[in-house]
Amino acid sequence: MSDCCIAGGGIIGLSLARELAGRGMAVHVVARTRGGDTTSWAAAGILPPAPLFAGCPPGDALTAWSDQLHREWAHQLRSETGIDNGLIPSGGLHLVRSSAGQNRLQNDLERWQGRGVACELLDAAGVLACEPALAGGNDASSILGGLLLPGEMQIRPSRHLDALEASCRDLGVVIEEGDVRQIIVRANRVERFVTSSGEVRSENFVLATGSWTGGLAAALGLTLDTRPIRGQIVLLRLPRPVIRRIVNRGLEYLVQRPDGRLLVGSTIEDIGFDTGTTPHTVARLMGVAHSLLGELPGVEMERSWAGLRPGSADGLPSIGRVPDVDNAWISAGHFRAGLHQSTGSAVLLADLITGRPPHLDPAPFAPGRPRPAAGASAPPGSTADYLARTAAAGD
Ligand SMILES: Cc1cc2nc3c(=O)[nH]c(=O)nc-3n(C[C@H](O)[C@H](O)[C@H](O)COP(=O)(O)OP(=O)(O)OC[C@H]3O[C@@H](n4cnc5c(N)ncnc54)[C@H](O)[C@@H]3O)c2cc1C
Repeated sequence: MSDCCIAGGGIIGLSLARELAGRGMAVHVVARTRGGDTTSWAAAGILPPAPLFAGCPPGDALTAWSDQLHREWAHQLRSETGIDNGLIPSGGLHLVRSSAGQNRLQNDLERWQGRGVACELLDAAGVLACEPALAGGNDASSILGGLLLPGEMQIRPSRHLDALEASCRDLGVVIEEGDVRQIIVRANRVERFVTSSGEVRSENFVLATGSWTGGLAAALGLTLDTRPIRGQIVLLRLPRPVIRRIVNRGLEYLVQRPDGRLLVGSTIEDIGFDTGTTPHTVARLMGVAHSLLGELPGVEMERSWAGLRPGSADGLPSIGRVPDVDNAWISAGHFRAGLHQSTGSAVLLADLITGRPPHLDPAPFAPGRPRPAAGASAPPGSTADYLARTAAAGD
């Protein structure tokens, strides 16, 4: 029997498995899908600057702590497994093309600088001097300015997942493909998971099942809105890199990999458990690439994909013990920041499971916390907030 059985083989489940196994626990992961079939693989891997500052809200504090841990984990994973997860401080440009956006730039600059983040305000000429390829964009004349954030980083999600899985196996984690179909609870304790291939007994049970967590948590008497929010991405292959930094324009972005691949993203779609891409959106994302970079000689569309971000009603993930079930835990609902927050989420939940004093106050993330009432205004960073922003952008 294991010390901890984790349902879910995405970034959240595997990061926790590694952390617990590193503390000497016997860990068993049951995952319906792994690697390329997870939302985690589908992510762009953008890690915006994440400082810890006075009065830092809980979600930002989790991101800031995770950010530091990512730097440590990248080194550790490379020396443990030989896999480079591609964490690089490529920097980021945040463009504006409307006068309303231009008016917000000064505020955004002060907000970043007030948090101690290196940030530079650029006019249109400054943007083009920074990334000359943007001058060739079909809509280059619409760029009014932007912010340069040298500390923005990127990571290769596929490589990070490979490295985590290799590290887990080295630490003795059992990774089983399977579906958790039923959770059997007796006297306020989970007794076993019933899976597609049998049963798993353990001391502790964790749901790290992304968008599917709400359905499983209901069996434990917990209501959790981890509604799936689809994001589509197009991957282009270029003969060589054309930009250096991550280019963000509203909710759209370009992420240049050093090998010439260019990710173009993304969408925020509330359409249920559908991981398909649509011709309309693929064409729209190609349009984003052309509007920013113009015609790209030698470009090939390598592939497109979609993933389901696990939504959150209040903009925070749920990390902690399930109320009234002594040995059941949850880490889910990371929405748009699951890659970034994966390291801190793993260490925080591992602290709670092993009884160590947690580095962060876990209360704001408690799975049983009250959520916004129906009809209340959407908290910043919540699923409803992003759906409203997308609708306003006419997506
Ligand atoms: C297009 C896109 C771009 C993104 N970009 C970024 C980014 O730049 N930066 C960032 O930080 N985040 C980003 N994200 C968000 C990030 O990908 C997610 O927050 C994160 O992957 C969630 O990880 P997870 O492990 O909770 O879920 P998942 O990766 O979905 O993993 C869930 C796991 O649970 C398993 N599972 C589900 N049900 C069961 C069951 N009943 N039994 C057994 N196993 C089960 C699944 O098979 C899977 O293994 C992006 C997401 C998308 C879609």
